[in-house]
Amino acid sequence: MNHDDLAKWSKRAADWAREYHATLRNRPVRAQAAPGEVAAKLPEAPPERPEPMEEIFADFERLVPDATTHWQHPRFFAYFPANAAPASMLAEQLANAIAAQAMLWETAPAANEIEAVMIRWLAQALGLPARFTGTIHDSATTATLCAILTMRERALEWRGNNEGLSGQPKIRIYASAQTHSSIDKGIRIAGIGQENLVKIPTLPGFAMDTQALDAAIRADLEAGHLPAGVIACAGGTSIGAFDDIAATLDVARRHGLYTHVDAAWAGSAMIAPEFRRLWEGVDGADSIVFNPHKWLGAQFDCAVQFLADPAPQVQTLGLRPDYLETLGAGEITNYNEWTVPLGRRFRALKLWFVLRAYGLEGLRARIRNHVQWAGEAHDAIARLPGFTITTPPILSLFTFRYRESDEATEALLKRINDDGRIYLTQTRHQGMFVIRMQVGQFDCTREDVMMVPEVLAELTEGDPPC
Ligand code: PLP
Repeated sequence: MNHDDLAKWSKRAADWAREYHATLRNRPVRAQAAPGEVAAKLPEAPPERPEPMEEIFADFERLVPDATTHWQHPRFFAYFPANAAPASMLAEQLANAIAAQAMLWETAPAANEIEAVMIRWLAQALGLPARFTGTIHDSATTATLCAILTMRERALEWRGNNEGLSGQPKIRIYASAQTHSSIDKGIRIAGIGQENLVKIPTLPGFAMDTQALDAAIRADLEAGHLPAGVIACAGGTSIGAFDDIAATLDVARRHGLYTHVDAAWAGSAMIAPEFRRLWEGVDGADSIVFNPHKWLGAQFDCAVQFLADPAPQVQTLGLRPDYLETLGAGEITNYNEWTVPLGRRFRALKLWFVLRAYGLEGLRARIRNHVQWAGEAHDAIARLPGFTITTPPILSLFTFRYRESDEATEALLKRINDDGRIYLTQTRHQGMFVIRMQVGQFDCTREDVMMVPEVLAELTEGDPPC
């Protein structure tokens, strides 16, 4: 295949994509494939000789779409969304065509400078002070890992990177039990050890108990441990919990600890000023992560980390061997020094396209609709016989149960996803198996959302009374 063939096949792929998106509503949302089914249809060995693109494309059409869970389906209400707005897809095509490796300013000046401007635009869009800079990572997991490594090194006065962790005091990091497992993963990778992630109990509204946080830090100091940082939760994955960000950061600041706010999902909603009360005080954070690849429309992968001061993170992660020096240029930013991998994709382009193609007004309107429709779906489900709301909507996420029973709720979830018209997933809340529903898909309509109570009513019609 050469570049002339590529042009021809790109047109074919674009036509295929238009048809795919136009008919998505007719497909089951969740893949109906059985484990191993796709692999069994592939040859055991790679081809020795080139194969015609016609055949390769035909196999793609035969094998892939039906064995795919359709994240862009307007009735995807599972997990959190991974939205890919058409303008983002176009930007990704162009970034793929250039295929730059944006590790240094010199290797991709446009990618580098558009990234800096997009961070500034997004800080403004979310109502953050102009002093925040930042960078784009692949995922929130990476951004959080970078923040944890920075907490560790800052507390150790940068001895850990050189001397290792053995012989150092126990580093302690604090978060609530509502935080995402990416925090546990970051703690493990950073060599801090799971038992040194102190999970602070939550208050009745599921925010971290800041008095308990303060007490835990004091107890650790007395025990000779080294408190290093606090991770606050702004929109937890399970039920959407928010810590009291101002109070949490205040406790951390009083002890001189580094702070990171995980707003991977809910951060996008902050483009609408009326939701900002949920993370009031966030401007006092050292680091904040949010994923435009969840709710904003810039497709996976795209996680933005804002930094009040990049210096501690760059001191933790930055290395500049001779072969990565940019000769004759002193005042440049090389974003690889702000993150884990050296190599970087041109992720800023899709943000640039999305923000311009829809405008903040267009993006806000979508998020406001999602929150409104989630509330309406919640009200309708609450009225259905046998259903109980377990947690009320936080932004566009709520949870519910069927017949007050784990078994009945799990069995219903299986029926829902085998039916295929909608897709929901589960979590465990206060020991109970519950179904999560979030509204956030870029193209969903009110009708799509209200199909959830309709499907629930239909699937449970005729069940014996509780
Ligand atoms: N934090 C929260 C609150 C999340 O909901 C998620 C994923 O859903 C993550 C972090 C991890 O995100 P990523 O997949 O970008 O690593």
